[in-house]
Amino acid sequence: MEQPIAVTRQSFDDWMVPVYAPADFILVRGEGSQVWDQQGKSYIDFAGGIAVNALGHAHPVVTAALVEQAGKLWHLGNGYTNEPVLRLAKQLIDATFADKVFFCNSGAEANEAALKLARKRALDQGNSSKNQIVAFNNAFHGRTLFTVSAGGQPKYSKDFAPLPGGITHTPFNDLAAAAEVINDHTCAVIVEPIQGEGGVLPADPAFLQGLRELCDRHDAVLIFDEVQTGMGRTGELYAYTQYGVVPDVLTTAKALGCGFPIGAMLTTDELAKTLGVGTHGTTYGGNPLATAVAGAVFSIINTAEVLDGVKQRHQWFLDGLNKINQQYPIFSEIRGGGLLIGCQLTQDYAGKAKQITQLANEEGVIALIAGPDVVRFTPSLIIPEQDVKEGLARFARAVARICS
Ligand SMILES: *Cc1c(COP(=O)(O)O)cnc(C)c1O
Repeated sequence: MEQPIAVTRQSFDDWMVPVYAPADFILVRGEGSQVWDQQGKSYIDFAGGIAVNALGHAHPVVTAALVEQAGKLWHLGNGYTNEPVLRLAKQLIDATFADKVFFCNSGAEANEAALKLARKRALDQGNSSKNQIVAFNNAFHGRTLFTVSAGGQPKYSKDFAPLPGGITHTPFNDLAAAAEVINDHTCAVIVEPIQGEGGVLPADPAFLQGLRELCDRHDAVLIFDEVQTGMGRTGELYAYTQYGVVPDVLTTAKALGCGFPIGAMLTTDELAKTLGVGTHGTTYGGNPLATAVAGAVFSIINTAEVLDGVKQRHQWFLDGLNKINQQYPIFSEIRGGGLLIGCQLTQDYAGKAKQITQLANEEGVIALIAGPDVVRFTPSLIIPEQDVKEGLARFARAVARICS
């Protein structure tokens, strides 16, 4: 056999389009909530591949589902349906408000489908001027041109102008500002129940409730982007149930495949009719390999055991982080829900989130940032207590270093 090509972190700089600045080590193996690098150093994984690896690494049941399907049927194309996709659709429908599902490969694509649905729905109603989309500052909805324009961080979109038009942004959690721009020309409102990339900022219940009422009044489609908050992340299968506000369209991805790329748009019978045969699609959407994996993931996550476990783990993290903050006061607020936790840095440490996660790596723990001033944790939903303790002990050592 040919020797594998030797690769180091330097190879990234040599060969990769430089859109990312990855850590200076390469991870090669994972098991549960631990990962190991090329040198055999161990890390506790508090990032979970950015809220993706909700069942940790190499979960035996998910791995078995992947291997079993891999030996059967990988892909057909959408001229032929398959068993795993239909089963996953039924699982999602039975567990949510939705009647119909569209599958794709990522969160951005799920949002792209949702926004296209809303535009076409209004047009189908004969209302060609009902094409305005309302979104929120600091939101993140993906990186396609449409979704990055819907996102509320101009630094991600401005270099790609001209951008798709008809999108207005207002401040998150400011219902009065939203009410000023939502009118009969609005076809959709898109919002994250907890802004993830934007800093782990939970929506106020009254804000989401108010958006629901505005959308009802003006016949606009309310889209909840649950790409990050969904699949158990907040301790419920989807966060909308905690808020008691039901959207018209819900998008989900990230943890849905636990690392196998898949996304989905969930909606009602009435809205689903908008996207008739040939109006939208994607080659890999709902292929049997991805949906077999997601079906296994779904069966595990959508249980009281896992969802209640998320609430318990939230408390473990809160207790541990508060203790660290008592000794080294660097956080002005610890917020979020379930295992989507954001720690806002105080003025003194503003801008240092990245540096803290780099020190955390050195101490053997992987954490995330959500902007320059927030350290974010999105670990496996089933991370063992021992790993939470050990990871927080390592994180405390990183915090001690930034404070010294
Ligand atoms: C990650 C994320 C997306 C984009 O998902 P991709 O799979 O990267 O396209 C969209 N919305 C939210 C809320 C996200 O967190």
